[in-house]
Amino acid sequence: MTPYDFDGIETRWQKRWTDDRAFEVTEEADRPKFYCLEMLPYPSGNIHVGHVRNYCITDVVARYKRMRGFNVLHPIGWDALGMPAENAAIQRGTHPEKWTRENIAGMKRQLQRMGFSYPWSREIATCDPEYYRWNQWFFLRMLERGIAYRRKAAVNWCPSCLTVLANEQAEGGECWRCHSKVEERELDQWFLRITAYQDQLLDDMAQLAAWPERVLVQQRNWIGRSAGAEVDFPVEGGEPLTVFTTRIDTIYGATFVVLAPEHPRLERLLADGAARQAVARLRAQDRRARQAGQVEKEGVFTGRYAVNPFTGQRIPIWAGNFVLMGYGTGAIMAVPGHDQRDFEFARKYGLSVRTVILPEGAPAPAAAPDAAYEGPGSTVDSGRFSGLASDDAILAMTAHAQEKGFGRAAVTYRLKDWLISRQRYWGTPIPVVYCEKDGVVGVPDDQLPVVLPKDAPFTGEGGNPLEKVPAFVAARCPRCGGPARRETDTMDTFVDSSWYFYRYLSPRKDDGPFDGAAMRYWFPIDLYVGGTEHAILHLVYSRFWTKVMRDLGLVPFDEPVTRLFPQGMVHKDGEVMSKSKGNTVAPDDVIRAYGADTLRLYILSVAPPEMAMEWTDANIEGERRLINRLWRLVDRHAEELAGERGAEAAGDLPPAGRELRRKVHQTIRKVTEDIEERIHLNTAVAAFHELVNEVYRLEADVQSGAGRPALREALETLVLLMNPFTPHICEEMWARLGHAEGLVSHAWPAADEAAAREDAVQLAVQVNGKVRGHVMVARDATEDEVRRAALEEPRVREHLAGRPIAKFVLVPGRLVSVVVR
Ligand SMILES: [Zn+2]
Ligand SMILES: [Zn+2]
Repeated sequence: MTPYDFDGIETRWQKRWTDDRAFEVTEEADRPKFYCLEMLPYPSGNIHVGHVRNYCITDVVARYKRMRGFNVLHPIGWDALGMPAENAAIQRGTHPEKWTRENIAGMKRQLQRMGFSYPWSREIATCDPEYYRWNQWFFLRMLERGIAYRRKAAVNWCPSCLTVLANEQAEGGECWRCHSKVEERELDQWFLRITAYQDQLLDDMAQLAAWPERVLVQQRNWIGRSAGAEVDFPVEGGEPLTVFTTRIDTIYGATFVVLAPEHPRLERLLADGAARQAVARLRAQDRRARQAGQVEKEGVFTGRYAVNPFTGQRIPIWAGNFVLMGYGTGAIMAVPGHDQRDFEFARKYGLSVRTVILPEGAPAPAAAPDAAYEGPGSTVDSGRFSGLASDDAILAMTAHAQEKGFGRAAVTYRLKDWLISRQRYWGTPIPVVYCEKDGVVGVPDDQLPVVLPKDAPFTGEGGNPLEKVPAFVAARCPRCGGPARRETDTMDTFVDSSWYFYRYLSPRKDDGPFDGAAMRYWFPIDLYVGGTEHAILHLVYSRFWTKVMRDLGLVPFDEPVTRLFPQGMVHKDGEVMSKSKGNTVAPDDVIRAYGADTLRLYILSVAPPEMAMEWTDANIEGERRLINRLWRLVDRHAEELAGERGAEAAGDLPPAGRELRRKVHQTIRKVTEDIEERIHLNTAVAAFHELVNEVYRLEADVQSGAGRPALREALETLVLLMNPFTPHICEEMWARLGHAEGLVSHAWPAADEAAAREDAVQLAVQVNGKVRGHVMVARDATEDEVRRAALEEPRVREHLAGRPIAKFVLVPGRLVSVVVR
């Protein structure tokens, strides 16, 4: 027997694919295309099994689509800018670029050893000036259109990463990368006006039918559109205060107004120094904790009054720590009867509570409610608006406020503009200079890229290393030629990943970010596989970027990705694999012990790809056994089969041959459906196991004589079906079975429906309503034949006990019912 030398087989075929440029593609107008994309890795140093899982899924689909005749683009690159490289430079005295390039080289070797079918000529690294040049070019286009702008803002500052973060990267008050508690700082920063696209980001979700609903829900919540009304509350001796509310139907219950401690009008409303100090204390509280409702509700009475424009009542104006400037107008009408937060505040400070909404079917308001009723209902004690359903009251009251000129329908969003300034070295330099005469001036296109200087000091002593490179900071103003200071902020690395998938189309193009004809051929992306931890980061930013590109006339569509497929995490010992937990598995070790094919097959076999999978070393053995069993079958029969080409399996076969053939075609049908529709690769792997078992069961009956064509068909079909999963050994077996052409673009097998049909069906046999046995009958058996078979079944005979048959009913394909007296 020929031993299964996976290392020799795998490296041999990998070399062959490279030599043949097997996965390189060009646009071919007359061939259907398939753009199969995976999220590009950060070159941290090692491919981990989470990457492997992601890339195995896309590789199966890519290889399968090639066999279906598609022209498949399945590229890879490196998300190579970002903080870890700079931190490594500080800790180890190396240069971020050196660290990054070495990691890329190592990880590339790992990916190649896995046998992934990438067109390596299209590899990109976002740290290449020829790549980030186009980040700068896009930025300048956005600057021209007012999408990129600079302003002073209270921003999230990570004291450990020593840089600001986007809101999306500081959710819950923690740095997304290092989990440090985020601080707030006032800084001049660059933003991208993503809020100009917030409605489109929501509305265009209608085009994302093949995205997982949970990703869309996360994005919808993040954008946080809420419709409501703005109402102006007159202030005694002052300008009116505008509040935003989604529940104007409760306005007759508004018994006080609360301003955020940061509200710009507050200072002038405060009665005295004591109140000012008390508000200053509120302002000093942690904003994140306030937002999360983690601090005790506290307030300060301003000493001033407003008027509820609906009731005409005089109501006090308070400052409260539970109101934030970031949402709505930074001022609320407090309705303690119908908002629990307001209720608790009113209780604490002895403010009045009015019930103005009754739940459906409630007889009358409770005299002293012990909680707010927040649901909808019908209005009471609401003047001429009493007796309306909440929805109707909202419409009527908004219209009334509008008519009287003290209110209007309004929409607010949770989404904020995207803060892209980073005070770090290893990012794309923001291409502007500051001139004393001309102010902010964009670097002209013909001076791009603004390249990172190599000689920055990496001391870790705070401050951006770029500030300490005089030759970088000193610039000429492109407008007046005078001296200017170059911007030292670099861009958020999420800029790099917002459009990288366009760069794969023409990675070396030097007169534009990508080739238009190639874009029209390959886009949109047919399948995008990755983790959903980026649902509100990368997957929002890249949708935004494409919309900006569309408005620049660069692409003709709204959305770049047709189908998003989220892959699940890899767990070990019941926990997510991570370095800090010490439960990681190194793919290299697995490849050394089992080979890449077994690793690929194993990682796809455990669970549906979108679910979390539990890594268990013992279960790899099961997949190794499958490959070994198939290898032995082919080894036993290859020589003879290779010598006798031509016999068709469709001819006259003995019963065992027909049985095997049936299983073969059922397997083709199943595996095709599993890959094509649901990408349920684990059930496809289960089908390989079944078919291999079936070949072993019938081997003796089909290995010689008239059954041999069925054996050939079974082995060849297994090799073809498994090729996307375990491509190296399949190529090897295919060659040994006598084929000169490789499998990369070999046609996928077609299921013969007639052959797949079961000849025999199993029927349940009931006696007096109880199932007493089962019989196998031919699918086209007559009722007499079925009757004979059913009545002769031993257990059924036992229950009949020789009594006369009163009734016999046949439900074809399902059951037989016999009634005896
Ligand atoms: Zn951090
Ligand atoms: Zn100037």
